Amino acid sequence: MRISRYILPTLKEDPSDAVVSSHRLMMRAGLIRKESAGMYVYLPLGLRALRKVIAIIKEEMDAAGAHEFLMPEMTSADLWRESGRWDSMGPEMFRIRDRNGLEYALAPTHEEAFTAVVRSLISSYRDLPLNVYQINTKFRDEIRPRYGVIRSKEFIMKDAYSFDMDEKGLDESYQAMRRAYRQIFQRCGLETIPVQADTGSMGGSDSEEFMVASEVGEEVLLLCGSCDYKANQEKAEFRRGDRKGGGAPEALREVSTPDVKTIADLAAFFQCDEGLFLKSIVYLADGAPVMAVVPGNREINELKLARALKATALELAPDSVVEEVTGAPVGFAGPVTDKKVRMLFDLAVKGVVNGITGANKKDLHYAGVNPGRDFTIGEEYDLTKAVAGDPCPKCGSPMRETKGIEVGHIFKLGYKYTKSMKVSVLNEQGRETTPIMGCYGIGVNRTVAAIVEQHHDDKGIIWPKAIAPFDVHLVGIWKEEQELRALEGLYDTLSKAGFEVLYDDRKASPGIKFADADLAGLPVRVTAGKGYFQTGDLEIKCRWGGEVVKVKESGLVEAIRDSLAGCP
Ligand code: ATP
Ligand code: MG
Repeated sequence: MRISRYILPTLKEDPSDAVVSSHRLMMRAGLIRKESAGMYVYLPLGLRALRKVIAIIKEEMDAAGAHEFLMPEMTSADLWRESGRWDSMGPEMFRIRDRNGLEYALAPTHEEAFTAVVRSLISSYRDLPLNVYQINTKFRDEIRPRYGVIRSKEFIMKDAYSFDMDEKGLDESYQAMRRAYRQIFQRCGLETIPVQADTGSMGGSDSEEFMVASEVGEEVLLLCGSCDYKANQEKAEFRRGDRKGGGAPEALREVSTPDVKTIADLAAFFQCDEGLFLKSIVYLADGAPVMAVVPGNREINELKLARALKATALELAPDSVVEEVTGAPVGFAGPVTDKKVRMLFDLAVKGVVNGITGANKKDLHYAGVNPGRDFTIGEEYDLTKAVAGDPCPKCGSPMRETKGIEVGHIFKLGYKYTKSMKVSVLNEQGRETTPIMGCYGIGVNRTVAAIVEQHHDDKGIIWPKAIAPFDVHLVGIWKEEQELRALEGLYDTLSKAGFEVLYDDRKASPGIKFADADLAGLPVRVTAGKGYFQTGDLEIKCRWGGEVVKVKESGLVEAIRDSLAGCP
């Protein structure tokens, strides 16, 4: 491709709204342009990289035995009503009507649509296992679209859905996808960390997310330093320690605590460890008040709490509800009460000796609080967030925290959709059986951005060769028309040798051309300038590093092959 006839609007300056490297570089290298908040245009160079990722995904999905479909992006409300998600999806789902008033969703995901079509295609155990997928646009009205194509309102997803006769079959389908995902990301030159993920309140068993470690990642991961335990903080567990506090149980007593409200204030006031406080927070779970009690030095993990409650909607209770439930203003809630409210206790609460908690009375706390004696621990769950330094739940070694970008997700869905949407097949005994499902997503645009995030320097992108938009950046430095003709010949030779060549034939300064080549980040740069016209010397440089190598035209193709072979 001749740059003089291509659309490659590189930018010298960083766009002001681009705060992460991938967004900055994808804009500056002329891969994307912003259409409006959370919506992006792919320019030709960006589209080439996107298509390469798509091709790899498709090859690996096909190799894993999945079948490619193309689903409508507008999905009828009736489908969503069948599964019950028309009401539960919330404002992230774009909803539209046609001229007759029929309702549709711009699909944020396609479980319902695929389940419905598969329902019409299968009737017997012989039709299973089945794995169907598509690579198609999704729409999500994200609260905070940001970081360019990492979180946009419209994006391309590869979504796959497996259908099996039983859990054993599902596990095989799941493992096949797990292997395919590792292959896909590896071929894309992207190092990923598979971590255990939350399975949500809707059940489902195994779930793993493929994460790219990055400072700008929105997910927090806990990784064990000694064993292979790796989990999203949403899900991460940790080994519980010993008792908090100590000595013989003291008598329960009221302590006046005017204006002492936060845990830090209380710790200063009582001069004790924050872990001795029984932090009691009132939530509304699907509208009903519940109290969660955790040690004061721990944050509640609301996903764990929601899962324990099997709640679909969980929110902090408004002050009025807190007052009603506890009989006191906000800040004095505690589990020592006669009031009837459902209480859930974190696993660490039972180990607290002589703790401190709100007395459910204004400006009063209880000290000398002892679980079992002063209140009963009925429902006990893991309710708190694991943090760096916490012992690994598997081996007890300290875990570390790192941030990650989620590029893919595999999930054993279970029977949620096949049951609610009444999918059934006849088993070998001729009995109606409900198939079990898995679902598997990859964010295609986000994968491209994550690759840029992982592979760049201060000059620009450094593409892994498998997804570089072109293989070779031919930088022609010419003044005379006859020089340009010689360069055309060189371009022709390289193209005929089978390389995808981006040929800078512009009448521009070498400085501009080199800066653009670094920005575009193609694996191999070939420079043809004065040396070429005078002595036939060409220069080859790998964008991944290493020295500039001089070659003659006769050895060029070989040298480029060598250089490419050395690139990741
Ligand atoms: P997130 O937690 O980042 O919102 P999600 O859990 O909602 O992601 P899934 O529903 O599992 O994502 O979608 C599958 C994949 O689609 C994700 O792993 C991610 O790579 C991609 N993805 C999700 N939302 C977006 C978005 N708004 N923009 C770009 N890619 C996205
Ligand atoms: Mg999301």
